[in-house]
Amino acid sequence: MDTTEKVQTLGEAARYDLCGACGESHRVKDDMGRWIYPAALPDGKTVKLLKILLTNACDNNCLYCLNRKDRDFPRTSFKPEELAHLFDQLYRAEMVQGLFLSSAVRGGPDHTMEQMIATAEILRHNYLYRGYIHLKILPGASWGCVERATQVADRVSVNLEAPGQKWLGRLAPDKELDDLLAPLRWVRRLLEEGGERRVRRAGQTTQFVVGAAGEPDKEILQTTESLYRELKLARVYFSAFQPLEGTPLEDRPATPLLREHRLYQTDFLFRKYGFTFEELIFDQEGNLPLGADPKMIWALHHPQFFPVEVNRATREELLRVPGIGPRSARRIIKGRRMGRLRTLEDLRRLGAVAKRAAPFITLSGKRPPFQLSLWEALSGKTPDKGQALTALALPTSELVYYR
Ligand code: SF4
Repeated sequence: MDTTEKVQTLGEAARYDLCGACGESHRVKDDMGRWIYPAALPDGKTVKLLKILLTNACDNNCLYCLNRKDRDFPRTSFKPEELAHLFDQLYRAEMVQGLFLSSAVRGGPDHTMEQMIATAEILRHNYLYRGYIHLKILPGASWGCVERATQVADRVSVNLEAPGQKWLGRLAPDKELDDLLAPLRWVRRLLEEGGERRVRRAGQTTQFVVGAAGEPDKEILQTTESLYRELKLARVYFSAFQPLEGTPLEDRPATPLLREHRLYQTDFLFRKYGFTFEELIFDQEGNLPLGADPKMIWALHHPQFFPVEVNRATREELLRVPGIGPRSARRIIKGRRMGRLRTLEDLRRLGAVAKRAAPFITLSGKRPPFQLSLWEALSGKTPDKGQALTALALPTSELVYYR
C-alpha cells in the first residue's frame, strides 16, 4: 500500500477508539482520506487531531474488533519515520494540530509500543514538534515502555474495555484485566513522582465498550468512580457497543446511544457536581434508568432536600438542583451579591434552566410557578398539576416512573 492508502485504512480502523476525540459525527475526512477529529485539551482549547493506528495487524482476537487476528482482510503498518513524516507534513500545512496514535498489537505489546514511541520521539527530536500527542498504551506493555511513553506524550490511555475480568473475558479472551490495570497504576505512580510536565497536565484516560458483555451500568460506574478517586484519571470514556460485520459479535444487538449518554451524564455528576457512586439510583438490573437524567432522578428521590432557597444555598446545594450546573451556580452566587433573586427570569439570565429548576427551589421564600417541564422531563406526557406533584413526592422504590 502507498502512504495515502495506509492513511485511509489505518485512519478508518482508528475510528472506534473514542478516547480524546469528540465522537464519530464530528470527524472530517479530507480529500486524501485522512481522518481528522476535533478534541478538547485540558486547557479547554479544541484542536484537530490526526487519529490513526500504527498497524491494523493484531495478535489478539477480541470478539468485537475489526482488527482481530482471525478476520481475513488486508493488513498494513506504518514505519515510525513514515508516520512521523506524514504527520509533520499535515502539521506544517495546518491541517492538523495534534496526533492521537493507537495500534493493534503485532509481535507483542512492547514491540509495537517501541514503534509508537519511536514515532513520537522522531516528531519531538527530529521535527522539533511541541504540540499535542496522545499515545495509547497497549495491554501487556512493560514498565519501561509505559515510562518512555509518558516522557514523549501529553496524554496516555489504556482501554479497560470492561469493569471486571468476567466481563472482559466475554469481549477479549486474550486479555487479563490486571495487564490493563497495571499500566494505569504505573502512570499514576510516575505522575506522583513528578513525571514530565506535559503529561502531568493532560494525564491519563480510559474507555469502556458498553453493553456487549452484559455488564450493568452499576459495575461500570463503580469502577469509573474508583478510577477517578484512586488513579486520578483525567477522563473515562464510554463507547456504546455497535456490532461490526465479520466479527463474532455481529449478531449482538447494538447498545442504545441513550445508555452511553446517561453514563456520560453520570460521569459529569462525579467530576463536576460532587456526586458519589453511593448516591446513584439504578433499576432492578443495575442499570441507569433511561427515561430521565440521573440528576433529576436523584432529586425526585430526595424530596426532603428540597426546596432549596436560591438566595441562601451553598454551591453544593445549588448543584443538586436540576437545571443548575457549575457555571450557573457560580453566576448565581455572584449575582445574588448584587441583590436578591426573585423570579425565574432572574435565574434564566444567570444561565440556569429555570423551568427545570422551578419545582425544586424557592426564590426569596416563595415557590415559583412550575411544572409541566418536570413531568415532561420524566415521561414526555402532559400532566395536570396534581400528577406533577405526585411525581415530586415519589417513594424511592418507584423507578417504574422513569422507564
Ligand atoms: S488488541 Fe483486541 S481490540 Fe486491540 S486491535 Fe487487537 S483485536 Fe482489536
